[in-house]
Amino acid sequence: MPVRTGWGIIIPGGKENQLPEPCETIVAVATPPGRGGLGIVRLSGPRAIEIGRGLFRPSRPGPLRPWRFRYGWIVDPEGRDLVDEVLAVAMPGPKTYTGEDVFEIQGHGGPVVLRRIVELCLEAGARPAEAGEFTQRAFLAGRIDLAQAEAVAEIVAAQTRAAAGLAAAQLDGRLSRALDEVAGRALEVLARIEAGLDFPEDELGPIGRADLAAGLDGPVIGLLDELIDRGRAGSALRQGVRTVLIGRPNAGKSSLLNALLGRDRALVTESPGTTRDYIEEILEIDGRPVLLTDTAGLRELAGRGEAAEAAGMAATRKLMAEAGLILAVVDASEEAEDWSLPYLPPELREAVLVVANKSDLVEAGRARAAAESLPGRPGLAVSALTGQGLGPLKELIGRLALGQAQPAESALLVNLRQEAALKGARRAFQAARDGLAAGLEAELVALELREGLDQIGRITGRSAPEAVLDLIFARFCVGK
Ligand code: GDP
Repeated sequence: MPVRTGWGIIIPGGKENQLPEPCETIVAVATPPGRGGLGIVRLSGPRAIEIGRGLFRPSRPGPLRPWRFRYGWIVDPEGRDLVDEVLAVAMPGPKTYTGEDVFEIQGHGGPVVLRRIVELCLEAGARPAEAGEFTQRAFLAGRIDLAQAEAVAEIVAAQTRAAAGLAAAQLDGRLSRALDEVAGRALEVLARIEAGLDFPEDELGPIGRADLAAGLDGPVIGLLDELIDRGRAGSALRQGVRTVLIGRPNAGKSSLLNALLGRDRALVTESPGTTRDYIEEILEIDGRPVLLTDTAGLRELAGRGEAAEAAGMAATRKLMAEAGLILAVVDASEEAEDWSLPYLPPELREAVLVVANKSDLVEAGRARAAAESLPGRPGLAVSALTGQGLGPLKELIGRLALGQAQPAESALLVNLRQEAALKGARRAFQAARDGLAAGLEAELVALELREGLDQIGRITGRSAPEAVLDLIFARFCVGK
């Protein structure tokens, strides 16, 4: 059924955010499972404060004032047993995480005690929160849009400072604001076309059409292109620039990976052929991620027949082609002819940094010669065993791999679903624009414009189907 959206237009088959109906009060442990220094139970909904207050006995008499922590005890109202020593705070809506009344209890963090507090809340009339339900309520209350809600999950999942920073910018509305601008511009064009439809005698003339098309070019289609690009920069920042380690068996790739990461992740062996497939680890340099990929296992497939070798080589080539940087590890203690890189496709030569490993076993001059074995490409002598040269190597990796990454200030977090919607919107607006130029009926142009707006609404949540919303929030943890 068509509905009227927040933008005041009708989207066929769309769904407008509903303000929360008088709803149930939910409760969950908001801190991670297990023992911790602190455990938080969170209640949200119309009865949150009433239920929380019913279980809380302040240490000294006096009212529980909004937003003020009070010290006291959770007491079983039936048996009068003390359950936990806590701090409690009542936060009346709408300026809360969910937009509803919220009551939070900070206890001592033991799983049994936290469960008991939740049980008491349930007995008092709350129901257990579903995964992501607190954030979903914040979205339904209109406090944050869908892109911001998804940013909450990204902040929790972030593995590097760069990823966390991107997620924080998103939560602050970086993507949402840009989309509002695109939608606003598209709406202006749509409004003018719809005004024309209401007065058929004003049917769009050629000048009007050219003007409307220009309104879509830069301001809408150009902006969307920019957003798609900035999303790519974001994913490089989030997932890391891929850096692939290649080299002969036993050159020390796994050892180098471990030494760079500072822990034992890859399996290091005396005999070649034991690392399975390939290994990926994030190395954080200046808070930004480099995705280190050790292809040792792929190449080892060579020993297991031609088909396996071919598959391994194809996979290695693909990884190399996607890489921002290729670390060619050579063994400085081997003969110079073993420093050649037979598997390196010539077109990827420009991405190579030579790492002359095992320099602890040879004289400095020889290590240097190994590092300079690929003319015109930079190289460094290191030892994965003693750690010698690893500091400068990290620095150089950072410079070569991250130097290509776009500045974090303009990057956007765009997940696959959001990227599909951005591209869908771009396609629809382009069709509208082409339609204007080709003399397409105004009504059909308007239809394309609405489709583009609908696609944008899938990101902000203004027109996201309920099933999509459910999927998104189900990925959150309970209590978030
Ligand atoms: P990969 O096959 O390229 O992954 O090589 P590994 O990391 O498994 O290392 C092969 C062998 O070389 C192991 O016995 C390592 O201990 C040894 N090795 C690795 N790096 C160094 C190094 O810098 N110096 C010395 N002396 N030995 C090393």
